[in-house]
Amino acid sequence: MKNKYLSISLSLATLLLIFMGCSSPESPSQWAIALHGGAGYMVPENYTDAQLEQYKSEMQAALNKGIAILENGGTSLDAVEQVVRYLEDCPLFNAGKGAVFTHDGRNELDAAIMEGSELRAGAVAGVGDIKNPISTARLVMEKSPHVLMVGKGASLFAQQNGAEMVDSSYFYTEGSWKELQRILESEKKMGTVGCVAVDKHGNLAAATSTGGMSNKRYGRVGDVPIIGAGTYANNKTCAVSATGHGEFFIRYTVAHDISALMEYKGLSLSNAADIVVLDKLVKAKGDGGIIAVDTKGNVHLAFNTPSMLRAYAKANGERGVEIFK
Ligand code: ASP
Repeated sequence: MKNKYLSISLSLATLLLIFMGCSSPESPSQWAIALHGGAGYMVPENYTDAQLEQYKSEMQAALNKGIAILENGGTSLDAVEQVVRYLEDCPLFNAGKGAVFTHDGRNELDAAIMEGSELRAGAVAGVGDIKNPISTARLVMEKSPHVLMVGKGASLFAQQNGAEMVDSSYFYTEGSWKELQRILESEKKMGTVGCVAVDKHGNLAAATSTGGMSNKRYGRVGDVPIIGAGTYANNKTCAVSATGHGEFFIRYTVAHDISALMEYKGLSLSNAADIVVLDKLVKAKGDGGIIAVDTKGNVHLAFNTPSMLRAYAKANGERGVEIFK
């Protein structure tokens, strides 16, 4: 009789251990990270090897920041913020320092960040005096009851919470200015930066930052700060950061659509993303792409434009840095 009780309690204990092992948030999970520096119309002929190498080495340097955080057991939220901050400080990309100009020669920056465990999110739009909009987006998420703050109110909030403020002249780069002049003569150009990651704890995060679309109207806000359009993270499904013609990404709620296909239809990350980016958006003539990760450490990079600056790394050693198809 004693033996019988012993074996029942041992089996119960084993079951409990198995159950705890499966459900614990600390159960081993592979980290993975991906970034983008914008989808667009780059063609190899227009760039020297040295220029292309520079894009790649800056993406690699940004990615390394995130890899170091994730390898040390840090959070995906810290990783995506630090990667995007690096890209914001680099004049090569259309975010932060390198932000493009509006039609009337201003800089209006948008950024958003989201974490997938509690679906917390923060975003800013139309700001022109915050050095790193992605970090202010995080402040909105963590230090305010709001999700999205715009213009002067967002700047005041940033200032009050210790964000680094800059004169609007900080965002002047010869490259962006010349680009506006070219676009005014009707060349199409886009760009944006973003990062998605899953950390060792199985938590997802996404961050996106942009100067928007060159030659945009004063007051235009794109998809980047709209949660579910250009930025989304949900531990049930995936983390997504988008780049492309923002108006389409808003109308087709691209980032959330990918997540919804996974959640409600049970599709894999790559299937869901390809349906949205390579089918729905193409049919709608919405140019652009996405980077995404899921909690299993799968990374998917999909775009329907000639180029998307992109890089990724996984815990298993897989790495990649690419520009063209
Ligand atoms: N999606 C951004 C926007 O529409 C631009 C881009 O990604 O190139 O503001």
